[in-house]
Amino acid sequence: MDSTPADTSASAETSTTNHPMAPHNDIEAFHQVLKSSRRILALCGAGLSASSGLPTFRGAGGFWRNYDATQLATVRAFKMDAGIVWLFYSYRRHLALKAEPNMGHRALAALARRNMDFLCLTQNVDNLSQRAEHPSSQLKSLHGSLYDIKCSNESCDWIQKGNFDDPFCAALAPASVDMPNGEPLPLLDPYHRVKHIGEDEIPKCPQCKKGIQRPGVVWFGEDLDANMMMDISAWMRAEPIDLMFVIGTSAQVYPAASYIDKARKRGARIVTINPEAEDEAEMYKIKPGDFAFGRDAAECLPILLEPVIGKPDEDGEFGMP
Ligand SMILES: [Zn+2]
Repeated sequence: MDSTPADTSASAETSTTNHPMAPHNDIEAFHQVLKSSRRILALCGAGLSASSGLPTFRGAGGFWRNYDATQLATVRAFKMDAGIVWLFYSYRRHLALKAEPNMGHRALAALARRNMDFLCLTQNVDNLSQRAEHPSSQLKSLHGSLYDIKCSNESCDWIQKGNFDDPFCAALAPASVDMPNGEPLPLLDPYHRVKHIGEDEIPKCPQCKKGIQRPGVVWFGEDLDANMMMDISAWMRAEPIDLMFVIGTSAQVYPAASYIDKARKRGARIVTINPEAEDEAEMYKIKPGDFAFGRDAAECLPILLEPVIGKPDEDGEFGMP
């Protein structure tokens, strides 16, 4: 913010301009790049919400009761046993409602408020970026939201946005229990039998009156929202991109990985932030001019973005520009 011409020339001699392979985790060098970046893209994954206490349910250990969580996140699972799928999502709705946005969500929201040319894509369905007051026009929820409700009838387009009922319906109350003294929730114990929840206990769609209501998230094998994808493509094609953040995601699933390639082709340097980003096995991804910070996003983002968003006040708020 207060950088004098003397600062700028000093850094030009010693950092990124003449040395494309400046240390990938040099915060000063990153700040210089950030200050000269206008069009910025971010891709966020579960790691952004990790320090808010939300489990990822993906990869190793991604089990819920004795179910592989990725198996529950499918149309097939919902057709076979809508009750158990709804319990899984009800539990996640309850957890995310109790969680608070962290400094990573807040820092990104502050960047968005200060830079209209910053677009944030999130794979998270937890609503924490929204609750950190990230401007909605600069946030694309790739995988939908735990708080959107859709119809399970594929030919029906009913959708209800922002349903925060907890429990979602009476039959799903066991997923919204708060245990005293940190005791484990009985629902999470695979040996604790849960009463089967029939489809007749789940609310029907008010529009077609045929389908039952389902979580408005994108399940494995389902397409992302076509209009949203077109908006993102249009944004990416409109002008070159200066910088892309890849935050808390291994970015191995489509379309995440393709966004990184496309942004690179549009001129973007990539800055990766997640605890594994500087592991030896990950270093091959870092190209000249890129950055990687092997740290938690909530701790790292306020530091990295400080030249644009300033320091937070004592309440952890970055305030308005
Ligand atoms: Zn319907």
